[in-house]
Order: sequence, then structure tokens, then C-alpha cells
Amino acid sequence: MNPAPRRPPARPRPAAEAAADSVPTAYLRPADVDRVLAGHPWVYEGAVDRVTREPRDGDVVQVKDLRRRFLGVGFYNSRSKIRVRVLAQERVELDDAFFKRRLEAALGHRRRFLPEATSCRLVNAEGDRLSGLIVDRYEDVLVLQTSSVGMEQRKPMLVRLLQELVRPRAIVERNDMAARRFEGLPPAEGLLAGSLGDDELKALPVRLNGLQFRADLSAGHKTGLYLDQQENHALVARLAAGGRVLDCFSFMGGFGLAAARAGAAEVTLVDQSADAVARAERAAAEHGLSDRCRFATANVFDWLREQTAAPPHEQVVPRYDLAILDPPSFTRTRSAVPDALRGYKEIHLRALRLVRPGGLIATFCCSHHVPAPLFESAIVAAAHDARRQLRRVAVYAQAADHPVLPAVPETEYLKGFAYEVLPA
Ligand code: SAH
Repeated sequence: MNPAPRRPPARPRPAAEAAADSVPTAYLRPADVDRVLAGHPWVYEGAVDRVTREPRDGDVVQVKDLRRRFLGVGFYNSRSKIRVRVLAQERVELDDAFFKRRLEAALGHRRRFLPEATSCRLVNAEGDRLSGLIVDRYEDVLVLQTSSVGMEQRKPMLVRLLQELVRPRAIVERNDMAARRFEGLPPAEGLLAGSLGDDELKALPVRLNGLQFRADLSAGHKTGLYLDQQENHALVARLAAGGRVLDCFSFMGGFGLAAARAGAAEVTLVDQSADAVARAERAAAEHGLSDRCRFATANVFDWLREQTAAPPHEQVVPRYDLAILDPPSFTRTRSAVPDALRGYKEIHLRALRLVRPGGLIATFCCSHHVPAPLFESAIVAAAHDARRQLRRVAVYAQAADHPVLPAVPETEYLKGFAYEVLPA
């Protein structure tokens, strides 16, 4: 007779599991469980049913559903609408070793997908499963942004790990973002490690696709310049050889100067920021491209209106072979999407009138709330009014250092298209 099956001895619980039980628990209402299970790191205020042992802001909490199923661990903030930012879906300790692993993974992603870049975003918050942290690399200088209390409190540890892993000359803090207010964090700026002269801080040489720009790490857009278009600068430049190019919303000339270097006959760059235009002019001069570039400091809406104004019974002469439109986000909210679409339609309508038949338009939208099909519908409406037919020839996305997690729709924001303006 077989002996009665014996129950296996109880396995000792892993240390991480025991440790997780010692941290407070936020219980999640059923409606939000699937989203968090799928990997979305935000637990909103209204989704939390209750929290055990009221944690302090910035403390680690574990998240469970009402049936006590473990969903993840993250940082708590009672002052934010995002009550918990989940950082891991496993029972792990959010200690130095955890952040080292996550930072190493982020660095590995850039080495793998942007191997040539000497400047790029090293950590893009949710896209690198590090909600609340942005780290940009400008050559040998890092710029850090912390937009959650949990990350803010761990800044010294993050700086130490970045020094160990990247060995930068300096780490600069650029915490002037509006998002910090919603977390109850004051603005903060300055040097966190290493040394950097004030002149360098305001005009650091930064290379994108082999072109050198002077970024202002203390006051420039984003943390200095737009790293998210790095790959698109090169892709669009390929369409420019020999042609007359218009670069609207040019900033420091990422598109326009790449086009000039790729052999465009002439490039017109338009931006309303006098500082950005001055930096673009300097970059053009430093690369010997000035003779092929013209610069206008102007509001693009006004400038295009002037260029497309024709006396009655006269036609606007289309004179560009490639027009590039890379405006700032026209809306930060869902409710303003209709206004944004009117804006997109207007600039396309006018720019299309300036592109000769057979020429191209490359256009971008960085509003998260305007997804690609909606953006394209504004372009189609503009083409209709301009009596042009378009053929799509390319689709663009944000650069690989701004990774997209499909389960976290907010990680995707930049999209673009190129079209040929078909001859009659
Ligand atoms: N194309 C650039 C990034 C553009 S960001 C690159 O690849 O690096 C958007 C730019 O539009 C900013 O430089 C900002 O100064 C400019 N801008 C915003 N509104 C504008 C307007 N109405 N007219 C002209 N420029 C504008």
C-alpha cells in the first residue's frame, strides 16, 4: 500500500516577500486593477479604496486589489492626484540595487537602439519604468529632472548611481517643470555633482547626427534641446538634397541644418524665439552652412499668412521642394483638441500652398491628445481646401530614447508623416 501523500513542508517565504508585507498597502478599486496589471504605473487618488498604516509622502507602498492580490510596489504621495507610482510589478525592494538595475537597463536600451548618439535621453520616466525620473545626456554632462516626491527624496542615491554608471563630468538639476507643483515640490536648479562653468551651462556644445548645437541647459526648451527628433532630423534631411527647404518651428535648426548639410540648395528657417534663431545662426556658421541658410524670427502663423497672401486674381507661387512643420504641442488637454486641430489645419493649408507640385511636406505633431489618425485628418482637410492631393511617403515617431510602452498610452506623443504633393 502506498503511504498517504504527505504535504510538502511549508517553503520559507522569500525575504523580499516578507519585506513587502512590512510596508503599507494601498488597496485598489476593481475598475483600475486591469490597467495596473497591464503595466500602467499610475494609481489615481480615486482608485485607492484605502491605505493601511498611513505612509509618508515618498514612502514605498505595495498595491493590492481588494482580494489581496499583489499588483506592485511604488512610491506614495498623498498630495498628488497620482497617489502611487508603481515601479515594479514584482515583490522587490526599491533599494539602491533595484535602481541600479533599472538604470543599467535604460542605458542598455540606448546602446542597443541609438548606438551612435553622443547625446540622448538616458531615462524617460514611464518609458523606462522609472515614473518621475528623466535623465538627459548632453555629451559628458547629465541633466536630471525628478517629478515625483519619491524620486526627489532619492536624488542623492540616483546621482551616486549615475556617477558610477555613466561617469559624467557634471550632473545638473533642471527641476523647473510645472508638473512638480502638482506633486507639492518646489522648483530647484543647480549643479548636483562635478563642475561646469556658467558659460558652458548656457552654451554647451551638443552633437546631433554630427552637427554641433549650443544648448542652454539652464533655460533652453525641455532640458536644453529637443532630443526626440534626433532620428527624424536625419530621415527628413534625406529628402532635401538639391531642393529649396522651409523649416517652420526650426528652434536651433535641427531639421534645417541637417537638410543644408545633406545638400539642400537653400534653407529658410522660421522660429519666434530670437534666442533659438541666434543659436541656429551660430551653428550654421560653425558648419560653413550660412550661405545656404536664411533665418526669420517670426510667428509661423503670421509668416505663412504673409507668404501666402496674394493680390486678387493672382496666385501664390509655390517655391519650396520640401516644407517641414514641427510645431510645439497645440494642446495639453483633451478638451482643447478641436482648437489644436484648427491650428494644425491652418499651418498645413498655408504651407501646402508654398510647396511646388511633386514637392514634399514633412510634418509632426507632439500632442499626446492628438493621435496620428486625427492629426492626419487635419492634414487631409487642409489639402482639400488647398486643392492639393497628397501621397504619404513616410511615417515618423519619437526617437528610440523616448520608448513607447503600449500599455502606457501617455508614453507615446510624437508622430509625423511625409507626403508628396501630387502634380495635377
Ligand atoms: N524643430 C525643432 C523643435 C521645434 S520645438 C527641432 O527639431 O529641434 C517648437 C519650436 O516652435 C520652438 O523653438 C518654439 O520657439 C517655436 N514656436 C512656438 N510657437 C511658435 C510660433 N507661433 N511661431 C514660431 N515659432 C514658434
